[in-house]
Amino acid sequence: MTYVTFVILHPPSSLSHAHAALILIGHGSTMNPDSSAPTHLHADEIRRRGLFCEVACCFWKEEPNMREVYEMVESDVIYIVPNFISEGYFCQQVLPRELRVEGPITHRDGKTIHYCDPVGIHPNMTRLLLQRADEVAPGVPRDQTSLIIVGHGTNLNENSRKVIEDQVSLISNGGYGFAEVVDAYMEEAPFVADWAKMTSAPNVVVVPFFIADGLHSFQDIPVLLGMREETGAALSELGVFHQNPHQLQGRLLYYSGAIGTEPLMADVILDQVHDFDAKHGIQNIGSKVSPRLNDQLIAWLELGRNVIGEIAIARSEKGSFVLRHVADQARTDLIPYHGSVEARELARYDDSGKFRPLHSAPTLKHGWELHLGSLDELRLALDFFYPAAVGSASRLEKSSLSATPLRELLGRQTGMYRFTNTISDDHAFSMVAKTCASKNCLRRILWPLTPEQPLPTDESKAQTGAIPLLCLEACPHIVSAARKVAKEAFEAKEAARIASQSV
Ligand code: SF4
Repeated sequence: MTYVTFVILHPPSSLSHAHAALILIGHGSTMNPDSSAPTHLHADEIRRRGLFCEVACCFWKEEPNMREVYEMVESDVIYIVPNFISEGYFCQQVLPRELRVEGPITHRDGKTIHYCDPVGIHPNMTRLLLQRADEVAPGVPRDQTSLIIVGHGTNLNENSRKVIEDQVSLISNGGYGFAEVVDAYMEEAPFVADWAKMTSAPNVVVVPFFIADGLHSFQDIPVLLGMREETGAALSELGVFHQNPHQLQGRLLYYSGAIGTEPLMADVILDQVHDFDAKHGIQNIGSKVSPRLNDQLIAWLELGRNVIGEIAIARSEKGSFVLRHVADQARTDLIPYHGSVEARELARYDDSGKFRPLHSAPTLKHGWELHLGSLDELRLALDFFYPAAVGSASRLEKSSLSATPLRELLGRQTGMYRFTNTISDDHAFSMVAKTCASKNCLRRILWPLTPEQPLPTDESKAQTGAIPLLCLEACPHIVSAARKVAKEAFEAKEAARIASQSV
């Protein structure tokens, strides 16, 4: 029997979002460039369709953060969709706190913010899983195939397990024709490593129920499945999904990339927006706001302020723009790139090919020139190079910018970072001076330690005539550094206490 998986189409809606902004939130990582990639790609796809006036991304562990992202959109109505697999502590507490939303609908500063459910719990994820299973094992009969949906598994968030169990139940009972459908986890039973014992069909399709590919899907799960003996270079992302099927334990095993990398996730994101409108009776998205930031950019360029960070902006008579590294302006051997999305790739790695998690590090790659056909493209490209920089600089000129004191930010930390606010004032001042020094970051800090304790101004970051790069809230690098310093101080104190007891 042949089973067909239909491509997802979000339900038709009479409500246009052409005057609204869409913000996607991803987890991000300071180590893994693949973590934020699917969120950006889904945003690109939705932007390409022109359904929203503005589309932006923000991240928990990457720039832009959830406070800055509001400087990147100007619409009066904003939809926020977490690109997360499950509900729970993160989507119900951490993200709302960081985004300053008070429930599904928040009215603040003249804006209406709609906070939607995370993408992973939408019912259409079922069809996405079926699509992914068919893609990874084309032509393989489902009635001779076991489907395994893999999650991380942790006792910290039972919702992450529930969302997978729900999918197993939906596919098992939905008449989709698989010989069997089971769930398996990396860190709790039923364990992925026991896949052969828990399935019986000659073909086995394994789909990781993760938002992004990374160490788990590239390395850990292949080892648990027995595709490789140990993690290492041989399990690089280049090969692991392209060698199907794998002959293992007398079966044919087909291994897929993380479900969140499926291009049709963009449709599920839109489905969450449409479901939000239906659930909350949204009838009207308001009217178009004039793009104030575009006007501001042009005004700056006309005043000769054509440098931002390490980028020089050249403007042509025809209204197009060319961006180059400031050190490359006299070069004639630059490689041409086109369109704002290329900016994201150019910003991602330095000259040596090393990942640049901090966009404002003074390590921008050389040797390129980026051609942009419009002012909208210019603004988007600058937000990819230096997230929220244009919006923040514009707001600073209007004196309406507020920055978050470091103590307030550290006080919001949870989990392994909850100790960070035990850092002493002296340690905090020296840690900031070291971490944020101009050799590490070009942003100019606007936040104080506390409202009564400003930080000294770093004059080395002043760029006369440039569009400033501002830091409104300390980034994850500071939080990590604060944790390290606080931990060392705690351990030193403990060692001294134990030593004094033994005297
Ligand atoms: S906290 Fe420091 S390192 Fe991080 S973005 Fe701000 S200035 Fe740069």
